[in-house]
Amino acid sequence: MDQNIEKFDLAIVGASLAGNYLCYLLSSTNLKIAIIEEHKEVGLPLQCAGIVSQKLIKIINLPKEIVLNRVKVAKIVAPKGKFIKLSGAEEPYIIDRIALDRLFHEMVKNKKNIHYFLGEKFKTFEYIKESGEKLLVIETSKRVLKVKMLIGCDGPLSSVAKSLGIKNKNLYAMQIRITANLEENEAAMYFDPRWRELFGWIVPEGNGIFRIGMACSQNIVKNFQIFLKQLKIDFKQKKDQQGGLIPYGMMNKLAFNNILLLGDSACQVKATTGGGIINLLTATKYAADCIKKSFKINNFSRKIIKRYYENPCLLTIGRQLKIHYLIRAVFERLGNKDFLKLFEIIKTSKIENLINIYGDMDFPKTFIFKLLRIPIVVSFLMKFIIKNPDIFVILLRIAAK
Ligand SMILES: Cc1cc2nc3c(=O)[nH]c(=O)nc-3n(C[C@H](O)[C@H](O)[C@H](O)COP(=O)(O)OP(=O)(O)OC[C@H]3O[C@@H](n4cnc5c(N)ncnc54)[C@H](O)[C@@H]3O)c2cc1C
Repeated sequence: MDQNIEKFDLAIVGASLAGNYLCYLLSSTNLKIAIIEEHKEVGLPLQCAGIVSQKLIKIINLPKEIVLNRVKVAKIVAPKGKFIKLSGAEEPYIIDRIALDRLFHEMVKNKKNIHYFLGEKFKTFEYIKESGEKLLVIETSKRVLKVKMLIGCDGPLSSVAKSLGIKNKNLYAMQIRITANLEENEAAMYFDPRWRELFGWIVPEGNGIFRIGMACSQNIVKNFQIFLKQLKIDFKQKKDQQGGLIPYGMMNKLAFNNILLLGDSACQVKATTGGGIINLLTATKYAADCIKKSFKINNFSRKIIKRYYENPCLLTIGRQLKIHYLIRAVFERLGNKDFLKLFEIIKTSKIENLINIYGDMDFPKTFIFKLLRIPIVVSFLMKFIIKNPDIFVILLRIAAK
């Protein structure tokens, strides 16, 4: 039996952005890496609207052809159609997500120490002891591997996370790409109680093509039809269609003996927008450092993984993700009148200025603290809390995490 077991230093499950970028960051070590992906082609199926802040170029070396467009204006639409347009220094990128996933795969796929197993599904793992050392035996749909570490980059429905007793709460998402006569430099967010857990979106891809989508916790097909009707968009005119799941909540536990979770499998996703790219790339750098350290000291215990991966994540993206979760909780409880009041506050106070200086799509902490110094905002929030006392339960949940 042992003769049929293939030995690797580590196995990564999932060859999407988290898995490929991690593989790239580790490719210059001499670690023998297996990367298991259930789909036959990297980058497909596409499950992304591709809107990412400029932080992307601070994290990775971004080839310019991956950027398809830039957004200058954010349009926020209240349930009954009134809207506000905001612009700031952020000007996010609209990216070619398939190309981004493939970028890292192309860079490492021919390296001797990297072994991609495409079209192969991770099934289970079990711990074994060998010469006093704790190892993992992993079963895929085609082979059995023995490794020192296992990395779960297998997305919202992560089998690795499930095996560890962790289950994400996910939203359903639908998106079409369509040619339309809309604003090329404007991204829009449509709020509505029927899809209150997120929003309907219009993202301008460039060249007259728009990505129109939505995410919510139930009735996604029906709600998406309502949304398209509202926009006077004919579904049949679509160029193509995407679907997917978006984890919803705060970051999960990341560290286990010999195992770590990364990306959507760990819910490293902003609850305000469903965006995961910046957080997962940030977390991947910590994961790569942690893996290198673990192999250097030959220690794969939960304690070491917590120290070098989970704790740095908690102190950086983890804190910001908690704020996203709180903002989301507030947004979910806003009615049409609350939105209109908010728009009025934004127009009459210094908030537009603050957005320009401190607005940050990924790390909102500084902006939120600045907002809380504006008396009219505090008064709005006090009234909101009196009307929605259950927000305290969310605050307690956040504090306890
Ligand atoms: C409709 C939609 C729009 C989005 N828009 C944006 C956006 O505009 N900006 C943004 O920042 N983020 C966006 N996101 C979120 C972003 O796409 C995710 O955060 C990101 O893709 C997570 O990457 P990942 O590598 O962690 O997981 P995933 O991209 O989910 O990849 C997981 C990989 O694991 C593989 N896998 C799963 N199970 C197994 C198994 N058992 N065996 C082998 N392989 C397996 C899957 O096939 C997949 O390739 C969007 C998500 C959706 C669904």
